[in-house]
Amino acid sequence: MNWEALLEPLSRLCIGVPRRAEPLRRHTTLRVGGPAALFYKTRDLEEFARISLWAHQNAVPVFVMGHGSNILVSDRGLPALVLYNACERMEIGEETYAETGVSFRELFLKTAQAGLSGLEFAVGIPGTLGGALVSNAGAYRSNIADLLIEIDLVSEGVRKRTPPRWMQFSYRDSLLRRPNAPPTSLLAVRLRLKPDRRRDILMRAREFQRQRILKQPPESSAGSFFKNVYNRALAEQLPNLPTPIREAGVVPAGYLIEACGLKGYAVGGACVSRKHANFLINRGWATASDFDRLARHIERVVYETYGVQLEREVLRVGDWEEEADLP
Ligand SMILES: Cc1cc2nc3c(=O)[nH]c(=O)nc-3n(C[C@H](O)[C@H](O)[C@H](O)COP(=O)(O)OP(=O)(O)OC[C@H]3O[C@@H](n4cnc5c(N)ncnc54)[C@H](O)[C@@H]3O)c2cc1C
Repeated sequence: MNWEALLEPLSRLCIGVPRRAEPLRRHTTLRVGGPAALFYKTRDLEEFARISLWAHQNAVPVFVMGHGSNILVSDRGLPALVLYNACERMEIGEETYAETGVSFRELFLKTAQAGLSGLEFAVGIPGTLGGALVSNAGAYRSNIADLLIEIDLVSEGVRKRTPPRWMQFSYRDSLLRRPNAPPTSLLAVRLRLKPDRRRDILMRAREFQRQRILKQPPESSAGSFFKNVYNRALAEQLPNLPTPIREAGVVPAGYLIEACGLKGYAVGGACVSRKHANFLINRGWATASDFDRLARHIERVVYETYGVQLEREVLRVGDWEEEADLP
């Protein structure tokens, strides 16, 4: 792809100025990642739609990025037009309209102030609404998918409004996380929320936030690196699992990693947090390759010990060369 040649037609669609070779480590919470071939921050929904349509119709690979809190971008970078989504308009009501670049936390605060319940679980989840949709973000047994009425999007060069089932949501998953997913920009959504007392909404959110602060490490991370495992037989065998978790047949990925003795294990600057084994943290000098090698080591040890293949929650994106396994 001749990225230099694309700058001129792209610039004609943009209100601002697109850039070449923007280092993505500046835009990810893991603080790693090489350059984007082209990078543009969009604040206007119609501009976002226009650029997405142009990219799809001209076979230009496009990567929509929120706050980079759920991606591991390779050190070699992303050979794509990276559209950084800063479209943040909201209309708050029992039927709330929100553009997908709004921060998930901000959306919770605005709806809570208006006495609307449903997004309490979002209070400590970093990132944008768009990123939350792609991974069906959730916590404390609630997910964003449960609140959706309709999605405005551009997919494969067509702009349309779709019902939520188009996204094929499941636990921390949607159509857009799958290999060969159709190129899609999620533009805006309508959500259904319930009226409640402001005080009660804020109390629930505060309790969620308190639990989070107790569990989460403060260093740079991408949150839980692996998905929890649904395996009733294994959950019943393991000692010391809290009863509600065992009864739900869930095995927390962090439990397995800790039980394998991997807390504190490091590859280069990437390390398994001592506070929460499912958080891989940047000690300040990590590369994307360090994180990937650490994750592969964890996957191998957990598989050899428990016969469980961990699935990553953090998406590996960009240009990865295959590397030899760790010795
Ligand atoms: C400390 C910490 C705690 C966390 N806790 C939780 C938690 O409790 N629960 C949870 O579910 N997650 C959690 N996460 C993970 C992360 O915050 C969520 O997945 C978040 O919703 C990602 O949003 P983002 O804007 O950062 O997405 P990004 O990381 O920027 O993108 C993620 C994916 O979504 C795609 N994408 C983003 N926006 C769009 C769009 N508009 N259209 C099309 N595709 C798009 C990207 O292309 C990429 O594939 C945590 C992360 C951190 C760092």
